[in-house]
Amino acid sequence: MSILITNIKELVQVRETNVTIVKGEDMKHLPTIKNAYLFIDHDTIVEFGNMKDLVGIEADETIDATGKTVLPTWCDSHTHIVYAGDRTQEFVDRINGLSYENIANRGGGILNSAENLQNASEDELYNQASKRLTEVIKLGTGAIEIKSGYGLTVEAELKMLRVIKRLKKDFPIKVKPTLLAAHAIPKEFKNNKDGFIDLVVNELIPAVAEEHLADYIDVFCEKGYFDLEDTQRVLETGTKHGLTPKIHVNQFNAFGGVALGVKHNALSVDHLEELNPEDIDTLKQSNTIPVALPGCSYFLSIPYTPARQLIDAGLPLALATDYNPGSTPSGNMNFVVSAACIKMKMTPEEAINAATINGAYAMDVSNMYGSICRGKKANIIITKAIPSYHYLVYAFGDNHIDTVIINGQQY
Ligand SMILES: [Zn+2]
Repeated sequence: MSILITNIKELVQVRETNVTIVKGEDMKHLPTIKNAYLFIDHDTIVEFGNMKDLVGIEADETIDATGKTVLPTWCDSHTHIVYAGDRTQEFVDRINGLSYENIANRGGGILNSAENLQNASEDELYNQASKRLTEVIKLGTGAIEIKSGYGLTVEAELKMLRVIKRLKKDFPIKVKPTLLAAHAIPKEFKNNKDGFIDLVVNELIPAVAEEHLADYIDVFCEKGYFDLEDTQRVLETGTKHGLTPKIHVNQFNAFGGVALGVKHNALSVDHLEELNPEDIDTLKQSNTIPVALPGCSYFLSIPYTPARQLIDAGLPLALATDYNPGSTPSGNMNFVVSAACIKMKMTPEEAINAATINGAYAMDVSNMYGSICRGKKANIIITKAIPSYHYLVYAFGDNHIDTVIINGQQY
């Protein structure tokens, strides 16, 4: 099965060579071809160029994209889409003035999600997560990372990761699983955090590695949750079992989590709403990519990751949703890209680079995803007729997507 897309108003994120990350100043450049064609054979991007150079290509199907923009699908490198139920009641309570602490004391927060998850069957979890995954693919996501972390027991974490494994098998998009081993301190370990870390390093990580259920190891490194010492123990054990660190740091406090991640060759350090100059210096000496989650800042009304500081220092930056029931109940990458421009002063070019190539880098799949490049996976978005790709970012909140193609097939 081959598809030829013709008369594309603008083909966006076109790369002649297989660029796998864009940093600093280079993020301002988003190569495009106006009045373009794109040829897909089976699941692969085979050829593209200007319409005037289109000769001798015959395809099984032709799509006329007059007035429409074509770009690679979004690469969402940070989500928690496997969860049970929702936390709408807490959302309303917060609007009515209850603090996060009040809510936690009433049994809310991550512990609430954990209880729901522990009580849900694997099939129930799978069905709920499938719906969310289907929706985000329709919104243009073509590669996604999914974390565990609401289990808080060995058994429930394994259940979550098995659900992710099923999603990975059943859905056509790229799915990368992460063991978020230390997300919150379970009630049973309220006064025995070390006991919980012992359980994580002695039982949970080895069990997950044994079943090959995760590629990455994650920790919520934050005051009141897991400190540098806890994080170090989890990352060391994870690395020993072949898992690459990819961690939550600096959401509310900057106290050295970035340096610890870099020391353990983390693929990414995510959140970074709080950042100090040492963090930037450390990242400059590394291959670790910072990941910003503007949907979370929006929902919680907390500061946004200082994207300008990071990019102006020459660093790369990726954008992801953080889709989760507590702090970001949305998996819409289109909104994330808009929010990055509106709230973080990223240019549309920077934001699109951050949500495609760099998002793919943050999942270690940028050799096959994240750009329109010969030989890469044919995962693309065809927009409705819009004036330009700037409009996609500018007219936020509307769905500008007409068609999503995953592995060369219309989804
Ligand atoms: Zn998260």
